[in-house]
Amino acid sequence: MGEEKKTPFIPDFFIQDSSTFVPEWLKSVKPASAGTAGGSGARGFARPSVPQSGGKALLLKGGHCVIPHQGIFPVDVKIQGTKIESLGENLSDPQALTVEVRGKVVIPGVIDPHVHLGIFADFDAELVTETRSAVLNGVSTLGLYLGGQESYLDKLDDIIAKIEKKSLCDIFIHLVILNRSQLEEVPVYYSRYGITSFKTYMCGIPGLISEVEDDFLLDLMEKVSSLGPDAILNIHAENYRIVRRATERMKKAHPLSESLTEWERSHPAFAEAEAIRRAAFLSKETGARIYFVHVSSEKGIESARDLKQKSKDLFFETTSPYLTLDLEQDPDLLYKMVPPIRSRKDQKALWEGLADDTLDTIGSDHSPMSSAQKKTSVNLWDVPPGYPAVGTHLPSLLDRAAANGFPLARLVEKMCASPAKIFGLYPAKGTLLPGSDADLVIVDPSLRKEATPQSASSRSDYCLHQGKTLKGWPVAIIKSGQWLTPGNLDRVRGSFRAKYLRRV
Ligand SMILES: [Zn+2]
Repeated sequence: MGEEKKTPFIPDFFIQDSSTFVPEWLKSVKPASAGTAGGSGARGFARPSVPQSGGKALLLKGGHCVIPHQGIFPVDVKIQGTKIESLGENLSDPQALTVEVRGKVVIPGVIDPHVHLGIFADFDAELVTETRSAVLNGVSTLGLYLGGQESYLDKLDDIIAKIEKKSLCDIFIHLVILNRSQLEEVPVYYSRYGITSFKTYMCGIPGLISEVEDDFLLDLMEKVSSLGPDAILNIHAENYRIVRRATERMKKAHPLSESLTEWERSHPAFAEAEAIRRAAFLSKETGARIYFVHVSSEKGIESARDLKQKSKDLFFETTSPYLTLDLEQDPDLLYKMVPPIRSRKDQKALWEGLADDTLDTIGSDHSPMSSAQKKTSVNLWDVPPGYPAVGTHLPSLLDRAAANGFPLARLVEKMCASPAKIFGLYPAKGTLLPGSDADLVIVDPSLRKEATPQSASSRSDYCLHQGKTLKGWPVAIIKSGQWLTPGNLDRVRGSFRAKYLRRV
C-alpha cells in the first residue's frame, strides 16, 4: 500500500466538500506503519485493564492532547473498540489504523449539558437533525431537558428507546418538575431511570412554562437532597415578579419594538442576581446541591461569586451565546432568548467568571427554531424565544477564547470535564484518560471558516454567528470509536448506537 492510498478513515466530506472542510493534513492520512518505536511510551498513561474489542485499533499520532486538569501533552492516542486504551509518546501498533494528526489538538468529546428538543418541532425528527448538528461540531454528549406538566412515567421508556435508536449523541436527561404530582415521583425517576438531575423555574416563560413559588422550591430541594449526594437541582433563576414588572413597563413604553435592547430591559440583570441569592439561601436549609443554568449577567456573576466562596454545593453554568454574542453587535430578533443576550460589559464579566472558577460549565441552551418560526411577527413582544446553538457551540468558543487569551486547556475543563463531574458522567466522559469512552474531537485551532447553517447542520435555516468567520474548528469527530462525518452518518446510523446515560 502506497502512502497516498486512502484508508477508511479519510472522511468523505473532506473530499466531497473541498470548499469548506478540507484540511490538508487529512489528505496525507497514512496506512498503519510498524516503523515507530513501540510501547506506551515513557510518559504514557497506559492502563492495561481496558477490555480489548475484536476490531482494529485506531491510532491518532502526532497531535496535542488536552487532558483536563493536567495539561496539554504531545502524545498519541490509541482507541480500541469504544474506549480509549492508552495515551503515550510514540505509540505503535502494526495492526492499527493510523491517522496522522500533527498540528492538531485532540480534546474529549464536548458535553453540552443544556439542550432542548421537540419544543418547536417534532421530537423524533429533532433527535435526528439536532444530534447531527451536535456531533458534527464536536459535541458528543447532551444533557436533554424534558418538560411539561404531566407525569413522565408513561413516557420515559419510549423516549429512551428513541434516543438509543435515533440519536448520534449519548444523552442524559434532566427532568423539569413543576407540580406536586411530578415532585412525588422524583424518587421513581431517580431509581427506575437513573435520572439524578431535575430542573425547575423561578421564572417561567409565558405560554410555554410556568414558574414555581418558594414553598414549592423548598419542597423540591428537600426531595432532591433526600435522594443522595449525586442528585442535583437545576434552577432557572430570575425573580418573576421583577421580570413581570419590567416587561409591563417596557411594553407600555414600546408597544411595537424591533429591538433586543427592550427585551434585555424586560429581564433586568438584578432579577437574576436576586433569584440566585434567594435560591442559594433556601438551599442551605435543605442541603440540596444546586446548579444554576444559563447565568447571563455581570450582576448574576457577582451573586454567584459571593455564594460560591461559602458553599461547595452550588454550581453555575453560562452559555456559549452569552459568551460570544452581545446587544451591540448582534441585535437581530433571531437572537431573542430567555435570559436575554446582554451587553459587552456583561459578557466580559462572564469570561472573568470562567477564569476565576465562579462559572463551572458552558451549555448552549439549544432550542432549534427556523427563521420562519422565529419571525412570525416583526414585533419583539410576539417573537418566541429560542435559537439553534449546539452547532456553533464549540467553534464560537474556540474563536472567542483565543481572541480573549483564555487558555484552551481551561476551556476544555469547562466544556468537558466539569459537566461530566457535576452530572455523574466522569471519567467515562469528559476526559481522554485510558478507559474513558472513545469520544474525541480533533480541532484545528487555526482554521478560519465562516459559520453557516450548513456548517451548523441543524434543521434550522439560520445559525448564530451566521456569516462571521470564526477561527478554530473541529475537523474530525470520533464518537464511541467511530469516525463520524456528514458523508457517513446515514450509513453509520444503522450500526452505531448512541447510549442513554443512566447515572445510578
Ligand atoms: Zn434552557
